[in-house]
Amino acid sequence: MVAYISPATAAKTETSENHKGTPDEPRPRMRKKSDHPPAATAPPDRTTTKAQADDFTASPFYAALTRSLVARGVRPEELCDACDEVERRLLAEYGAMFVAAASVRVPPRCVFRSGEECARFQAEVEPRAEHFGDARIELQPAALDALLAARAEAHAYGLEITPRGGAEAARRSYADTLRLWESRVKPALAHWVSSNALAPDEARRLAALCCAEQIAAVLKEEERGHFFSKDFSRTILSSVAAPGASQHLSMLAFDATEFRDERVREILARHGWFQTVLHDLPHFTFLGVREKELRALGLKRVVERGQDFWIPNI
Ligand SMILES: [Zn+2]
Repeated sequence: MVAYISPATAAKTETSENHKGTPDEPRPRMRKKSDHPPAATAPPDRTTTKAQADDFTASPFYAALTRSLVARGVRPEELCDACDEVERRLLAEYGAMFVAAASVRVPPRCVFRSGEECARFQAEVEPRAEHFGDARIELQPAALDALLAARAEAHAYGLEITPRGGAEAARRSYADTLRLWESRVKPALAHWVSSNALAPDEARRLAALCCAEQIAAVLKEEERGHFFSKDFSRTILSSVAAPGASQHLSMLAFDATEFRDERVREILARHGWFQTVLHDLPHFTFLGVREKELRALGLKRVVERGQDFWIPNI
């Protein structure tokens, strides 16, 4: 069964709308209902789960993640349950930040499970803020220093690095990620019910689930071809981050207005800021290392729309 779609595979068919205002560009038409795979009727058996977990933990990314976490005094099984399909998927989508340099902190879990857990981490990293025009940009100190250095270098070349969408370009709260998630889930449920693809009772049940269960249920529906992106043609994870999993919560992410300018991307990369989330074209992640070190960190380069993405090699 197809239980996991790697970001690299998905890249071939999907485009970004992660950020408000990203222009929609041509994309493949949605599959017809008759093309949809049959509904999953049973959970994967233990042999399948074990095999998928083994594949995951045998990957170059997991090896690098383990080295990085051990250096921080953390065991990888504390960060992510390799037997949990959703956690594996979230780590594959957003996990690059967990191999960032020792100059920054990383969250204790691959997904924050509550607003309190997230707020505690955000306080512990003692973020710093700087104004970019009217926008207050708040990041972990090493990430902010590197961004300011990149901006200074850009200025020297007559270029700009500005936050896309104001303060939300950097730090976000758990409630922000929940709001963005719900802004996709609610319309998608209504759409699939009105298309007779989903029973109203099932939609109500799904809507009432709490975070982790709802993420799992939504991804399960997507395996049946019922996608939850804004135009219902792609996975919700190409559209918004799962609640609690956004790199913006860790204050290691910045959305740049000038993301299409190759010179700006090169300057950001020289200062440790790389693109690590496929489809998310304006989004940069602070890893705090040089580009030549990225492969040794278990990341692989994928090119999408002329932009280099360094994603977990799983
Ligand atoms: Zn972003």
